[in-house]
Amino acid sequence: MLKKIRVRFAPSPTGFLHLGNIRAALLNYIFARQSGGKFILRIEDTDASRNVDEAGLQIIKDLKWLGLNIDEGATIGGAFGPYLQSERVDIYEKHLLDLIENRKVYRCFCSAEDLEQKRMKQIEHGKPPRYDGTCAQLSDDKVKQKLVAGLKFIWRLRINPDQVIKINDMARGDVEFEMKNFSDFGLTRPDGTFTFMFANFIDDWLMQITHVIRGEDHLTNSAMQAVLFDSFAVKLPAFWHLPMICNVDGKKLSKRDFGFSLNDLRKDGFLPEAICNYLAIIGVTFKEEIQSLNELVKSYDFSNINSTGSIKFDVDKLLWINHEWINKIKFDDLFLRVKPFLDDRFSNVNDVSEEILKNLVNKIYAEAKTLNDIVNSLEFYFEKPKVSLVELEEKFGKDVISTILILIKSNLSDLNNPKLFLEKIKSDAKKDAVKIGSLFQFVRYALTGSFHGIGINDLFDMLSVDEIKKRFESL
Ligand code: GLU
Repeated sequence: MLKKIRVRFAPSPTGFLHLGNIRAALLNYIFARQSGGKFILRIEDTDASRNVDEAGLQIIKDLKWLGLNIDEGATIGGAFGPYLQSERVDIYEKHLLDLIENRKVYRCFCSAEDLEQKRMKQIEHGKPPRYDGTCAQLSDDKVKQKLVAGLKFIWRLRINPDQVIKINDMARGDVEFEMKNFSDFGLTRPDGTFTFMFANFIDDWLMQITHVIRGEDHLTNSAMQAVLFDSFAVKLPAFWHLPMICNVDGKKLSKRDFGFSLNDLRKDGFLPEAICNYLAIIGVTFKEEIQSLNELVKSYDFSNINSTGSIKFDVDKLLWINHEWINKIKFDDLFLRVKPFLDDRFSNVNDVSEEILKNLVNKIYAEAKTLNDIVNSLEFYFEKPKVSLVELEEKFGKDVISTILILIKSNLSDLNNPKLFLEKIKSDAKKDAVKIGSLFQFVRYALTGSFHGIGINDLFDMLSVDEIKKRFESL
């Protein structure tokens, strides 16, 4: 019987998720759901300097927001816990002891400064920087002396330079690594904590992870971890190293790039459906590009994935997908999602009934690319627009403006019936030889502060008669 598929998302709690790790989480999730397997969340918090609790909790909230529900992991538990690396130290210690007993590791007393100097020298001489094995052959006596002297050390794994390690990558097939190109690597840090390399391997092994799906930047880590799997004589999982997401200049996406962090995207009013949709389809060809998570689970073809070196982050495409999703979800749902954005931006939202708010959003959402676009389009409603007669006169000429002002003000008593009002100002404009286009641009400007945008009929439907009157009279 085939082994049940178990995949994991293993973020370090750096405080926020970014596009690269959301994509890893998403593809792990789709892979698990498609195969009836388990999607596990493990928090890799071995680096104690980070504010783990808060950041870990945020990751859990973020995954929920994205709709990537976990089957096992931090906060919900499971049979392979604990799922926080900080709670697994005794497990790492026990397995390190095995390696110590079998002399597969040795203590390395080289200081960070020594190592850095050696590294610089190697680079100077055009050699790849590698640990030179200074402590690999220390006698037991020498080790004792150093320990007595209170020197700090790390445990390094002894690797066999003659070994060729093979891993199976779902996109690349078999990938071989010659160990002569690697150096003995650390399993612990000088303060006694465990390195990513060791803890991540132990957890993948003991949590019975069948497929390690993560960024391509982990490819050499996978080779080193394969040596660890080999040291314990356990079967390797399969790997899939995902292409990196790059910015328009072809560089790895970084904090400086728009859209890098989930927080920014959320603040800008991107929907989780759109973020997942976009991240699932980039780098792959889909006939139907707009797909929900459930649809992606059905349609994603893992047998046809390629290993292109990088994927360009295309903001316009993400905006298009978000626009599609804004139009795809039910209006009431959309309204619930826009409401907090409105609350945040306009202090007077609560003076407006829900019915009116819904009408406002309904009138303008179809064009929006983000929830923020919706809020921006409604600014004219909540905040009196800044208008200037001078600007109008410059655009249309003084005479035209004074004619329009007179014909509008003389019809204000009909504002209660917008249709009639609009008919009357149109026919007066004709009589006065004012172009209808100019008249409507004037009206839009007077009501919104902009010459373009919302249709005139919609504007009359959105603003109250009193407000329209006030705005015209203030000119
Ligand atoms: N904590 C690592 C990271 O965030 C995990 C990588 C992995 O193995 O998935 O990069």
